[in-house]
Amino acid sequence: MNTYELPGPKLYLGGQWEEGSGAEITSIFSADGSTNRVLKGASKGDGERAIERALKAQADPAWRNLKPYERARYLHKIADGIECSAARIAYIQTRDTGKTLRETRALAASAAGTFRYFAAALETLNDDLTSPRGDYLSMSVHEPLGLVAAITPWNSPIASDAQKVAPALAAGNAVLLKPASWSPLVSLELARIIEAAGLPTGLFSVLPGAGREIGNLLVEHPNISKVSFTGGTSTGRMLARQAADKLMPVSLELGGKSPTIVYADADIDLAIAGILFGVFSSSGQSCIAGTRLFVERTIYDKFLERLVTATKSLVVGDPFDKQTQVAPLVHFDHHRSVVEQVETAIASGAQVLCGGARPEGAIYEKGAYYMPTILTSVANDAAICREEVFGPVLCVLPFDDEADVISQANDNEYGLACGIWTRDFPKAWHTARAITTGTVWINTYKQFSISTPFGGEKDSGIGREKGQEGIRAYTAQKSVYVDLTGKPHAWARWPNEEP
Ligand code: NAD
Repeated sequence: MNTYELPGPKLYLGGQWEEGSGAEITSIFSADGSTNRVLKGASKGDGERAIERALKAQADPAWRNLKPYERARYLHKIADGIECSAARIAYIQTRDTGKTLRETRALAASAAGTFRYFAAALETLNDDLTSPRGDYLSMSVHEPLGLVAAITPWNSPIASDAQKVAPALAAGNAVLLKPASWSPLVSLELARIIEAAGLPTGLFSVLPGAGREIGNLLVEHPNISKVSFTGGTSTGRMLARQAADKLMPVSLELGGKSPTIVYADADIDLAIAGILFGVFSSSGQSCIAGTRLFVERTIYDKFLERLVTATKSLVVGDPFDKQTQVAPLVHFDHHRSVVEQVETAIASGAQVLCGGARPEGAIYEKGAYYMPTILTSVANDAAICREEVFGPVLCVLPFDDEADVISQANDNEYGLACGIWTRDFPKAWHTARAITTGTVWINTYKQFSISTPFGGEKDSGIGREKGQEGIRAYTAQKSVYVDLTGKPHAWARWPNEEP
């Protein structure tokens, strides 16, 4: 396997590589606890400097007056850079997050695709000529917002970064990206690629650091015009309150506790393969993980037996090993939180059908490993079924009929995604329409297209990312009227009234 030099310790502050002056951040490799990089995060002063540089760069006609096709070229160059560095990005991200190399390669490819998609979308999005009610031209045009703060979590950094940075740049903004403290490295690599693509200096910054310090600065700063946030629901709720004080738009991609429904007529082999991928890939550290499984009572026992056998055959191991399906969790603190949540569930009567512990063996001893876990005898309103565990933990519950499962699936604060397994298309359709989530997968799970909008209902968020309209989320709509008569305004007169 090739290894690559890891980015850092310098941060990318408005086009300048500088050491941060904030609190120390240690990136670790969670498969063995070794240190990847120690760097100083961005302080408030660092953030303010980056904001000043961004303001100047965004207002510069060299950026502001670019035609859409000219801005699109930068996005294509960034996509080229990501593609050329894909192996390096995958390596850095596997070191930074413990994710399998197989997954981080896919994330790098997805990030490049996101830049290309928004380049194409930018060139094909049109402003509107609206229907006039007088002798004038009326139109609706879209302007950049100015400075956008993109705040991202640790679970899929390069993909989450691209999903915000690409449309925000496409719309003509400057972007200040704040990655999570556990995964600062790949965002710094993205900065290197963006710099090499020749984006005008100052338009892009990467500010790793504590949410309370640098995150807060970005949200509260008067020159930041929008925050695009992906992360936990409690953090998102707090940001929304701060944004309300500034009357600033926010988009929030938050947590999930997604239901998967298996009707008795489902293709069982396909369902099991999809369910395992939906909940245990990324070691369950996925906002859309299908963590609540509802199985029709008539097949419940048989289905569970097969599901448990299949789960026990999953390969837990080193993220750099090609065979590995379930890698370690991102961090030892997170591992502790998963252990505690499962232990609390067991103390409340949950039955462990498999997993529920660290795997045994020398190779696992130093890592933040946790076995794929299946729990039954849990109530739909128990903490383990309501709260996001963000680990490889699946709760299974029985249901009686369509009405029962719709009611149980919807009985949760979150509304991010849902999976439905059945051969009966009308039933799948009715169920899909009745479930309150932003995405529904029928006879599949965790499939994504950058062309298809993504976002949550209820506590899973506000707004949508991806899709052509994704660029519009980073623009201000402006109406323009142009007189066609050349005559003075006739005002306060009824039609046909004598002067
Ligand atoms: P988190 O909410 O702890 O942190 C997310 C980001 O917000 C980080 O960069 C963090 O430093 C920053 N932050 C924390 N406090 C802040 C504050 N006061 N002001 C500004 N920024 C602050 O989430 P996490 O643990 O990094 O990520 C896991 C969460 O992300 C899970 O809940 C998961 O469901 C969610 N997620 C959602 C989606 C989605 O698209 N819906 C995708 C991936 C992850």
